[in-house]
Amino acid sequence: MGLMSPEQFKASLNDGRVLYYKGEKIDDVANHPELSVCVESMAVDYHMAHDPKYADLAVVYDQKLGENISRYFHVPEDANDLLKMLDLIIEGTRMGDGYIPLAHDIGADALNAISITAHAMDNKDYIERIENYRNYLKKEDLAVVAAVTCVKGDRFLRPSDENQEHPDTYVRVVDKNEEGIVVRGAKAHISGAAYSNEFFVLPCRAMTEEDADYAVAFAVPANAKGIKQVARPVKTKISEHEFPIERPVRVITDSLIIFDDVFIPWERVFLCGEWQHAAMMVYNFALMHRRTGSAYRIPLTEQLVGVAQAIAEYNGVTRAPHVREKITDLIIYLETLKALARSACQEPVMYGGIPVPNPVTTNIAKYHFAHNYHDAVKIVQDLAGGLLVTAPTYKDYTHPDLSEDLDKYLVGKAGIPTEHRLRMFDLIRRLTRSEFEAIVLHGEGSMQAERMTIYAEARKVLKECKKIAEELAEIK
Ligand SMILES: Cc1cc2nc3c(=O)[nH]c(=O)nc-3n(C[C@H](O)[C@H](O)[C@H](O)COP(=O)(O)OP(=O)(O)OC[C@H]3O[C@@H](n4cnc5c(N)ncnc54)[C@H](O)[C@@H]3O)c2cc1C
Repeated sequence: MGLMSPEQFKASLNDGRVLYYKGEKIDDVANHPELSVCVESMAVDYHMAHDPKYADLAVVYDQKLGENISRYFHVPEDANDLLKMLDLIIEGTRMGDGYIPLAHDIGADALNAISITAHAMDNKDYIERIENYRNYLKKEDLAVVAAVTCVKGDRFLRPSDENQEHPDTYVRVVDKNEEGIVVRGAKAHISGAAYSNEFFVLPCRAMTEEDADYAVAFAVPANAKGIKQVARPVKTKISEHEFPIERPVRVITDSLIIFDDVFIPWERVFLCGEWQHAAMMVYNFALMHRRTGSAYRIPLTEQLVGVAQAIAEYNGVTRAPHVREKITDLIIYLETLKALARSACQEPVMYGGIPVPNPVTTNIAKYHFAHNYHDAVKIVQDLAGGLLVTAPTYKDYTHPDLSEDLDKYLVGKAGIPTEHRLRMFDLIRRLTRSEFEAIVLHGEGSMQAERMTIYAEARKVLKECKKIAEELAEIK
């Protein structure tokens, strides 16, 4: 079939999937008045693949298949491939006004993590299955997301611990036969699942022998029998009290996916019972995915720097030393993120024949973004001033009795129209809304998960630094 057009992608979603949104069962996600906005955000990937401007980034010619495929499904060969993927994610997210399109990127992270694990296990069946599945994705250009995070129940207990409320807090195998396996359980927060063709399901933690039934990875179509998903509510319109904007609203939902005894044929199973390898699979996914996470935070950080500079100018305060200091902090925040994300790709490590972004740097990149995000927002809100929350609305501003007064009294620096200032307040409110704070902290794993990986992966650096110290102290 080759590269899907945005229209083909939208049509492909009318597949009988079982999806609930705001208490309603949704029959046609692509034509739903609200969810269609999210589908359009996801379709950005498909637009890019057909836009000659992005041809070098978004599309790769596959020699074996003799056709163009999405870069996301191409096996990265070197640092240059990782950098191209980084730039592709950044550009896609810029096109999505700060929202990553999601049609392929996180799925590609899962695809590569499964492939690396299969090679490390030296399991010929799994290697063959994942290669066949990769070719299927390349040929059909399907949207695929990664369902990793289980609902988990009591976080301190293992999946198989009998003190868990029930045995299904982590996705597990409940039956198997010659044809395949049957799985039960639920995955939470799965971004883009409501309008994805397929899901990659991976274990979300290390497993012990007792947890063997929970060490399972597979790919499944979104409309498979027994799958039910609930998408979280999102705002798909700007409020009528804000200044109207012509550009489309971009937003993505995340789903709770319930697997109620879903049958998975063997050719789609990539881990089943090999509990020793579950940790490696989730670890490799996290490494890939934190590179993706750092990349798509760059456009959001650019927006924060942009609104801070704009509102400081509109308020006439750019010459104040503390304002320059604060904007300098934001520039350091952005440029450090960019440098870390690029460096992680430039100095990869090879796992299972695939270059993986540098584990230390890629985790520092994601941690740096999440750890400093609230401070960055604080600067933007500080520079904006109180009108950020008290400014009269667009409807007041355009009211014939008020517009002249509001234009006169809400002006900032001379020469800058009052409307520009008010529009900027609208944008800052949208950009710094509180829901982003939790998204930033938890998306791609908690900050503690990043710190643990940094410490574990920095063994070599620690050893070298200790050697330097001992040499200086002349400890023989
Ligand atoms: C907007 C958004 C999108 C997401 N998209 C996806 C997606 O597409 N696919 C996907 O698979 N996942 C996705 N996630 C899930 C994300 O990776 C998780 O939210 C994250 O791993 C944290 O897990 P949790 O939400 O269950 O929180 P918890 O695990 O409950 O964490 C809450 C706190 O408890 C701590 N904690 C948890 N367990 C332990 C423990 N055993 N010991 C000590 N401390 C512990 C954590 O460090 C954290 O501080 C998304 C999350 C968000 C918010």
